[in-house]
Amino acid sequence: MFDRPTPFRLDPRALSEAFDGVAADVLARAAGRASEPVAGAGSPDALARLVAGGVPAAGRPLGEVADELRDVVLAARARTDHPRFFAFVPSPVSPVAWLADALTSVHNPHLGARRQAEGPAAVERALIRWLAQALGLPEGAGGLFVSGGSMANLAAVVAARDAKLTPATRGDGVAYVSAESHVSVARALRIAGLLDRQIRVTPVDAALRMDARALAAQIAADRAADLTPFLLVATAGSTNVGAVDPLPQLAEIAARENLWLHVDGAYGASIALSPAKRGLLAGIEHADSVAWDAHKWLFQTYGTGMLLARDPARLSASFGIEAAYLDDAGSDGPDFWDLGPELTRPARALKLWLTLQVMGLDAVGAAIEHGFRLAEAAERAVRATPGWEVATPAQLGVVTFRYAPEALPQKAAEGAMRRAAARLFDEGFAAVGATRVAGRPALRICALHPEATEADMAETIRRLDAHAQEISGL
Ligand SMILES: *Cc1c(COP(=O)(O)O)cnc(C)c1O
Repeated sequence: MFDRPTPFRLDPRALSEAFDGVAADVLARAAGRASEPVAGAGSPDALARLVAGGVPAAGRPLGEVADELRDVVLAARARTDHPRFFAFVPSPVSPVAWLADALTSVHNPHLGARRQAEGPAAVERALIRWLAQALGLPEGAGGLFVSGGSMANLAAVVAARDAKLTPATRGDGVAYVSAESHVSVARALRIAGLLDRQIRVTPVDAALRMDARALAAQIAADRAADLTPFLLVATAGSTNVGAVDPLPQLAEIAARENLWLHVDGAYGASIALSPAKRGLLAGIEHADSVAWDAHKWLFQTYGTGMLLARDPARLSASFGIEAAYLDDAGSDGPDFWDLGPELTRPARALKLWLTLQVMGLDAVGAAIEHGFRLAEAAERAVRATPGWEVATPAQLGVVTFRYAPEALPQKAAEGAMRRAAARLFDEGFAAVGATRVAGRPALRICALHPEATEADMAETIRRLDAHAQEISGL
């Protein structure tokens, strides 16, 4: 006989108090995140002490460690969900998503296969079908939730490789991306076994969209060299400037040339849920696969992306598995673990489901359109401020611009611009990204937060200008 260990036996009052602390966070943050600083440094000393402490032999009180997590660990982070976090792609998470995250975590369904979790599986399948429909993909389209755009791009690239190339042609297969494609696409191609010589970077036009004529010329040259063009990756909403590639022309080329058309809509596909903006995605319905992130413009916590496929059988052809120890799962057709590279999967769809149900489609559309307006407001503010110029106009919630007063040499202006953005961040007001547009340094605002206002945009530009003038001595 041996004693039963009791590591999970917790004093119910301590557990309840710890969750009360979380509930207090929820209420405070749901009431408005604008009062927090954009960047919290926390206490570097306390953080260093905490992590140096390692793991104790005897357990410590739950409340004490939970407070440390909140006050020392989580405090030291950029608030990417702050209304004035405009760098990267911000994360304007709905408080409703937090609730579904908690529920999902407490019940922890295993979503490798339907039979393990019929309820969550039904929701995931229904959402995937609904999202596919929103893009205009045909009835039989399918797919699954993945951790994000990078994984969706990777799985799509693998499916494309297996659908279009044979063992004999794999070494000669050529994939086309644009100079503005997200870096995760080239990485996906490399992971899928392509060599650099099999990746063509197609030039972009003046609006930084893939140049369809240049693409056609590249394909012709590759065919003439006995290579096998097989994959075209278009972008719907480029991360840097919000550009949408000319999807109708690209789809036509893909069809004519027998290429798999993957559309990276990790950032931009969400605009399909806005009746006013979905026209910008025209042509996406021809895609063989689409990557779409819910943790960007669909208000979810990180780790929530979708891969949609016109023909899900192409996914199971690449990812389908069989194993004796999985037999019990029973099978009527491909399961989630047959459609992508993961086996054990969390129920990522539930938070998006709860959010969409609670918000309703009208509010989702309005929230997305608000992002467009925020970037347009920032563009207007830039145009109204002497010494500043727009690099790329507001598109899909993104605007890029630069400091270029006539009185300053270019290098000095660029330095002042960069330091002005750093100062704005340090003072905790707003995070604006630094980037390059057509090779030249610029600042980038990506504004998606439903709680951000036109005044926020104007004040951000006003402060940037004041800092830049002071730094450059103008
Ligand atoms: C963000 C993004 C990705 C990568 O998605 P992750 O969710 O960060 O992995 C890919 N493509 C585009 C266009 C993106 O904006």
